[in-house]
Amino acid sequence: MDRPAVPHMTLDEFRAVGHRMVDWIAAYWENVETKPVLAQVKPGETAAKLPGSASDFFSHAVADHEGANPAWDAIFRDLDNVIVPGLTHWQSPNFFGYFPANISGPAVLGDLLAAGLGVQGMLWQTSPACTELETKVLDWLGEACGLPDEFLSTSKTGGGVIQGTASEAALVALVAARERAMTSARRADGTTGVHRGPAPAVTPHLTLYTSTQAHSSITKAAMIAGLARHPDDRTHVRVIDVDRECRMDVAALAEAIRADRAARRVPFFVCGTIGTTGTTAIDDIAGIAGAIGDDGSSATSGASDHENEGSLALPWLHVDAAHAGPLALCPEFRWMFDGLSRADSYCFNPHKWMLTNFDCNCFWTRDRRAIISALSVTPEYLRNAASDSGSVIDYRDWQIPLGRRFRSLKLWFVLRHYRLAGLQNYLREHVRLAEVFEELVRSDARFEVATARTMNLVCFRLRGSGLESDARNHALMNRLNASGELFLTHTQLPASISGESSGRVALRMAIGATQTQEIHVRSAWDLISTTARECVIDR
Ligand code: PLP
Repeated sequence: MDRPAVPHMTLDEFRAVGHRMVDWIAAYWENVETKPVLAQVKPGETAAKLPGSASDFFSHAVADHEGANPAWDAIFRDLDNVIVPGLTHWQSPNFFGYFPANISGPAVLGDLLAAGLGVQGMLWQTSPACTELETKVLDWLGEACGLPDEFLSTSKTGGGVIQGTASEAALVALVAARERAMTSARRADGTTGVHRGPAPAVTPHLTLYTSTQAHSSITKAAMIAGLARHPDDRTHVRVIDVDRECRMDVAALAEAIRADRAARRVPFFVCGTIGTTGTTAIDDIAGIAGAIGDDGSSATSGASDHENEGSLALPWLHVDAAHAGPLALCPEFRWMFDGLSRADSYCFNPHKWMLTNFDCNCFWTRDRRAIISALSVTPEYLRNAASDSGSVIDYRDWQIPLGRRFRSLKLWFVLRHYRLAGLQNYLREHVRLAEVFEELVRSDARFEVATARTMNLVCFRLRGSGLESDARNHALMNRLNASGELFLTHTQLPASISGESSGRVALRMAIGATQTQEIHVRSAWDLISTTARECVIDR
């Protein structure tokens, strides 16, 4: 049969292939536990299974079409033979590396629906439901997490938005902070070396602060914004040391800010972390807020800074809880979030540990004006009556790109399906499993728990000091990962814990995959324990 010039998939084909695809995904989830967790392919192996050139590819694709419904047969075959062998299986219950990248049935269906609806939510007008559902979902989630009222859309100055990632959230917060600092510097009375007027005659030397344990996305945001010249630019990015629990040293932060102010530099941004990437340390957010404001400077805080003539704005306090954020849903873990009421912005990733597939970063601010003022550019073609009325939210002004997907659908489905109690039970179970694993580590004299466990991550290591000990821990991890039975990753402990100038390697057991149960954690420990024996004998 002749194919039409533009071979759209018919609706019947879409239904048939769509059902087949959902079945394929369900079978993948059913069997993912049996697959080697870390991809076992060598560099280039996947590419070598694919057509070499565009002409090969297109003639291959034509050949695929001979026979009845064969193109999709060929595609499903390629999924099994080419793609799946080249995957690291993040959804395996034996995936314990990095932080989890949760998915769930409701979230995947929400994403499918968003793709199917195909709306583009850049302006309220381009799909009012896309904007208004997002605002509601962020308010519900913010309220359930106990966020300050000022972060909700019902406040005069704040609100929430879904960003793609915590990295984008950090960049948005950073440029808003710069906007606020520059506005207040312009209005200040010359004490910073800048003059009143539309633009400072001398660009102030802006400085930002985070800890040695903060995520690299903070420095990257400073580089993208043109504030840091390279990853090690310490004249603009002050990297504050941490204490024995890997928390930012608040006294050192206060001193760094004081010294910069004394030198007429402008501290404009501080990022604290709740649940650091290396060890899930919990920065003292209230202490950090105090260090920002308690040095007797004339700086002022909050969304009213725009009106505050004659004084410098306090540095913007952004709090990154990319992984740990969902724990705020559980009253017993709320203490970790103390001090958030003094933050200017806050974010976490449901795409890590809250059953919502990538990408989904929930970001709240108390100062939406600073964000909009930093990010809003309105070409004529985007002008419309609803935006001009000032009564609607245009989320394009709260983010880096113009276009935006209907991401709140997947989050809405997760909240509706699991409800608050389901999410709480999910998180509590992973924390319990981490306690189980921690006890197993403690029961074996060859090992030590390397840092105080705060949530679902256990940092542990084979005992010993020096480079030899690091090499043994690396060897253990590499053997475990090569086995395909499980996957875990490592971190370098800061000198404040290790007491060694070069730090020490610890292995990270992050328990948070959607399907992980106690049996997987106990089996992982059995394998770690026996493999450690082999590692020690080998050396
Ligand atoms: N912040 C923290 C604490 C993280 O652990 C991570 C990633 O693991 C990030 C930020 C970056 O997350 P994203 O990939 O959403 O940018």
